Amino acid sequence: MAIRKIREMGDEVLTKPCKEVTKMTLRTKILIDDMLDTMYEAYGVGLAAPQVGILKRIVVIDVGEGPIVLVNPEIIETSGEQTGEEGCLSVPGKSGQVTRPDYVKVRALNEEMEEIELEGEGLLARAFCHEIDHLDGKLYVDLVEGELHDVNYEEPEDGEEV
Ligand code: ZN
Repeated sequence: MAIRKIREMGDEVLTKPCKEVTKMTLRTKILIDDMLDTMYEAYGVGLAAPQVGILKRIVVIDVGEGPIVLVNPEIIETSGEQTGEEGCLSVPGKSGQVTRPDYVKVRALNEEMEEIELEGEGLLARAFCHEIDHLDGKLYVDLVEGELHDVNYEEPEDGEEV
């Protein structure tokens, strides 16, 4: 268990597509544990492997309902629409308005490489979209409507950093 350094916007690793995980190794299990530690330490609700410099299709999420680990996730269904503040641990101190589906269904593998399907609404749906975008080298800043703005930490907004 260790805290890894979070890569920030401008780092090339955040713009590259990630590779599928083909087998679960000890090294990958340690990476997942470290990603969870790093996310919790930074008070984030999600973290993708490229954010710690590893180009593998792995994300971790916790929107307050316990940890979720997704290996090779893909979005298989979406519906509705939500517009709200979004932030990213790789873009510290900033946030912006992003429109995402309000419901998202994801198919992935868990840490045991068993197939799982998960559904999310609201913040969880937003986190699924945001984290899976990271695996394709995409950052939310390209989706922001209007201006990316500074987060005022004294008057926190609704947005969460993912
Ligand atoms: Zn992010």
